[in-house]
Amino acid sequence: MELSNRQEQIIEIVKEAGPITGEKIADRLKLTRATLRPDLAILTMAGFLDARPRVGYFYTGKSGSELLTETIKKYKVHEYQHVPVVVRENTSVYDAITTMFLEDVGTIFVVDEHSCLTGVVSRKDLLRASIGKQDLNEVPVHIIMTRMPNITVCRREDLLIDVANKLINKQIDGIPVVKDTAAGLEVIGRVTKTTITKVFVELIMNDHI
Ligand code: ADP
Repeated sequence: MELSNRQEQIIEIVKEAGPITGEKIADRLKLTRATLRPDLAILTMAGFLDARPRVGYFYTGKSGSELLTETIKKYKVHEYQHVPVVVRENTSVYDAITTMFLEDVGTIFVVDEHSCLTGVVSRKDLLRASIGKQDLNEVPVHIIMTRMPNITVCRREDLLIDVANKLINKQIDGIPVVKDTAAGLEVIGRVTKTTITKVFVELIMNDHI
């Protein structure tokens, strides 16, 4: 976040003299309290300053990058997850390829009759199956998928940064968001590298902190 000159000045004053009232900051800058109000609101919302009623403003001592880290560490999976694209285990490889094109995704989750996760098929899994001589209409995806329990999953309340880490460490493009049920892990969403890229862009474009 780019601070204006005036905002920098306010921070300096509060660093030196805090806790200090808005009135006194305004006096020092020879401005009215009303003129200063938007700047104080921004600095407080962004976390540079804290405001205590009847005490005044004081400096939190946090740098821009510390505040950015704090912001990112609050992001949860459920705020950013996308709708999952799923197929049943007996879907043919041919139909899975068609689904991938139609739904414009790179990872498809395979589920049983309870919508519970049994496997994952990626682009490369489908390519690999396609270079053999088999009739792709005859090969069901469960033959070629990566299957449970070897699937990396996440849950709604997980931190997005932890899921991003899993994507990198496991070298995969997508992770299903699951819900624990008596029948197994129900697939309720997906987080992919695109999800993380979008969050990254949004963070910068919205000038989040
Ligand atoms: P690509 O096919 O483009 O390389 P991935 O890197 O996501 O896509 O997939 C690599 C391998 O990892 C594939 O065999 C796929 O089945 C498997 N895979 C994909 N997602 C997961 C996951 N969430 N958990 C476990 N394995 C996965």
